[in-house]
Amino acid sequence: MARLAQTAGLTDVQQEILKTVREFVDKEIIPVATELEHRDEYPQQIVDGLKELGLFGLMIPEEYGGLGESLLTYALCVEEIARGWMSVSGIINTHFIVAYMLKQHGTQEQKDYFLPRMAAGETRGAFSMSEPGLGSDVSAITSKAVKDGDEYVLNGQKMWLTNGGTSTLVAVLVRSDEGHPEGTAPHKSMTTFLVEKEPGFGEVRPGLTIPGKIDKMGYKGVDTTELIMDGLRIPANRVLGGVTGRGFYQMMDGVEVGRVNVAARGCGVAQRAFELGVSYAQQRHTFGKAIAQHQAIQFKLAEMATKVEAAHAMMVNAARKKDSGERNDLEAGMAKYLASEYCKEVVEDAFRIHGGYGFSKEYEIERLYREAPMLLIGEGTAEIQKMIIGRRLLEEYRFQG
Ligand SMILES: Cc1cc2nc3c(=O)[nH]c(=O)nc-3n(C[C@H](O)[C@H](O)[C@H](O)COP(=O)(O)OP(=O)(O)OC[C@H]3O[C@@H](n4cnc5c(N)ncnc54)[C@H](O)[C@@H]3O)c2cc1C
Repeated sequence: MARLAQTAGLTDVQQEILKTVREFVDKEIIPVATELEHRDEYPQQIVDGLKELGLFGLMIPEEYGGLGESLLTYALCVEEIARGWMSVSGIINTHFIVAYMLKQHGTQEQKDYFLPRMAAGETRGAFSMSEPGLGSDVSAITSKAVKDGDEYVLNGQKMWLTNGGTSTLVAVLVRSDEGHPEGTAPHKSMTTFLVEKEPGFGEVRPGLTIPGKIDKMGYKGVDTTELIMDGLRIPANRVLGGVTGRGFYQMMDGVEVGRVNVAARGCGVAQRAFELGVSYAQQRHTFGKAIAQHQAIQFKLAEMATKVEAAHAMMVNAARKKDSGERNDLEAGMAKYLASEYCKEVVEDAFRIHGGYGFSKEYEIERLYREAPMLLIGEGTAEIQKMIIGRRLLEEYRFQG
């Protein structure tokens, strides 16, 4: 985009990476995205291309075969990719969260074993907190792990795993009572297990079933699944970090960086909607002139572009805060909340600008219209973001009277 969503202060390397990704998006993703999405087809060729570009290892340290880039670089790449097709950014996002959790919290053996494979895109990550009975309220998790010798036996049902079928490594959050007596706070009795599995559907490992793809209104192409554990045996050395009871904190850390990426996705989808809207508005004529010349439509474009700019600035701020080593829960929550709400609004305005044609599957905006709502839900709903923001604000601005 010529003028909007520019980022000041990028290094030459960051600019080079972004240019490469943008060219890939324009050439390899945008021309095929809508057709693949309508067929709900996994974009294997695109994923292979991203692997070749090294995007699966973008934030993995160089010593493990990755590119060792910052969260900001990663988020800006996600923004570009989502501009092309949001589902593709979903394919790398859960992989990225699992790699981040391993980098931050894994034992040395876990890092040495998993990170090089993840950087090469051979091992592909998914993460699993949600269950059929809960999403926002993670502390209510009922799936359980019970120690049995050198192993844990896992039972329970998980819901909404992005990349549940295509992944080969799932970070699964369950309750583990071992070492945590009755009455321990719920978030202190949870453990993340690193569960390796075959890709695909059905029984992908003894005791582990991925039933099939959930049929969704949008965000197609990427598979979203359930996961059923029935006597699943996991060795003790696959407890993330080697110690039980830390899973909740590890997952929340992962989700915090994930939120920056959902914000980045919102920015990317909104940018594409703006591009489609501003282009259509100059081609469609009513009452003797291009609709872009009617002030009502110009005002819409002005509002859309302002939202694209504001969301981008907040997303970049949240990523930079994390990169500086500071906690960014407030900024990430604000960025995710604003970018997803603005994305929905910009997409709706672009849809309105298209008139009746926006309702036709021949136009790209129809796909964006079905994709935007997912960003209001994933990595914590708007209400949950506001709860996080509100709590932090009350801590920061404690009444001193
Ligand atoms: C396409 C898709 C992909 C997903 N991928 C993953 C994944 O890879 N891994 C994973 O673990 N999960 C994933 N999820 C699950 C997602 O994180 C949850 O759907 C989300 O957290 C909301 O949980 P819920 O659906 O159970 O809604 P609920 O928690 O039941 O909430 C329902 C409504 O109540 C509101 N609400 C809840 N509690 C409060 C409160 N205290 N105050 C005010 N309002 C409240 C919510 O904001 C929402 O509007 C995915 C979901 C979708 C749709």
